[in-house]
Amino acid sequence: MSRVYNFSAGPAVLPEEVLKEVAAEMLDYNGTGMSVMEMSHRSAAFQEIIDTAEQDLRDLLKIPANYKVLFLQGGASTQFAAIPMNLGTKSGKADYVLTGQWATKAQKEAARYIEANVVASSKDKTFSYIPKLDPDTFTKDADYFYICMNNTIYGTVYHDLPETGDVPLVADISSCILSQPIDVSKFGILYAGAQKNMAPAGLTIVIVREDLIGHAMDITPTMLNFQTHADNGSMFNTPPCYTIYIAKLVLEWIKNEIGGLEKMKEINEKKAAILYNFLDNSKLFKGTVVPEDRSLMNVPFVTGNDELDAKFVKEATENDFVNIKGHRSVGGMRASIYNAMPVEGVEALVKFMGEFEARNA
Ligand SMILES: *Cc1c(COP(=O)(O)O)cnc(C)c1O
Repeated sequence: MSRVYNFSAGPAVLPEEVLKEVAAEMLDYNGTGMSVMEMSHRSAAFQEIIDTAEQDLRDLLKIPANYKVLFLQGGASTQFAAIPMNLGTKSGKADYVLTGQWATKAQKEAARYIEANVVASSKDKTFSYIPKLDPDTFTKDADYFYICMNNTIYGTVYHDLPETGDVPLVADISSCILSQPIDVSKFGILYAGAQKNMAPAGLTIVIVREDLIGHAMDITPTMLNFQTHADNGSMFNTPPCYTIYIAKLVLEWIKNEIGGLEKMKEINEKKAAILYNFLDNSKLFKGTVVPEDRSLMNVPFVTGNDELDAKFVKEATENDFVNIKGHRSVGGMRASIYNAMPVEGVEALVKFMGEFEARNA
């Protein structure tokens, strides 16, 4: 068996310890004589899995008691509609900041149901920065204010949150959930597709303040109404059981192997620093994001020459640094260095980049 260094933006690398545990428990989970994927979601064994996953998530993120944690399907993209349908019923207005493709898709979807105002955008420079926000331009009676916290494709992140006063802040944290501590109480809703930093695809986590539940539009499909899932412990219908089980193992890994989110942050900062320091000193490669808005999770870079980019991607792949090509909409390269990417993986990549530079400068 040989494992590669997988820099995929998602679905992405998972901790090797977790994969080994999953393999060991494949045929017989905890003496049940069956795999978790064969198990009733109404069984005591599965109830314990989902309860433990929720408690570990609550402990790690320090989620206050007045927030519900929902385990849903449909991917982050389904929330682009669910959020306006559940929240957009007071003024029917919301503010959006366009920091990339995901935020733009979310705003477009919301505009089908409510007045979805664009208060700022960084499209003018290919989303290579987080726009400065002026609270005077925000809609005073908005039902919510929407941001995409970490922009997976472009490699930017908010280091400061917008000042939205009483307007609930809603954030897509698909590609930065569990990468560092976050003050949940500053948000009305936090949500994430699991396949970047938490589990395989198929699970979407929604963390929602209780007072924001129960005001959905009449047209809201039962399955998109947060109330449905809050009232039924995420088991109105069959939840994504197996993915929840792997999420539980990843959460335990962060808790027990890593030692919590402060420690996770330290490791992530160390990895990002190795890569950014290399890029800042390279004569061949350069990062595409303004330094003050750089993501810890997704690091896009280019040589400035499309042919050389393609050559680098090819040679990197041959040397087991895989999925390092940039998103099809932007080109170049992107190294996604999520929680499960070990420090050695980033060190090895930087060493390889240095050798490539020496050969091609
Ligand atoms: C990947 C991603 C999405 C889309 O997730 P799906 O689960 O495929 O719908 C949305 N937002 C962000 C920030 C992402 O990284």
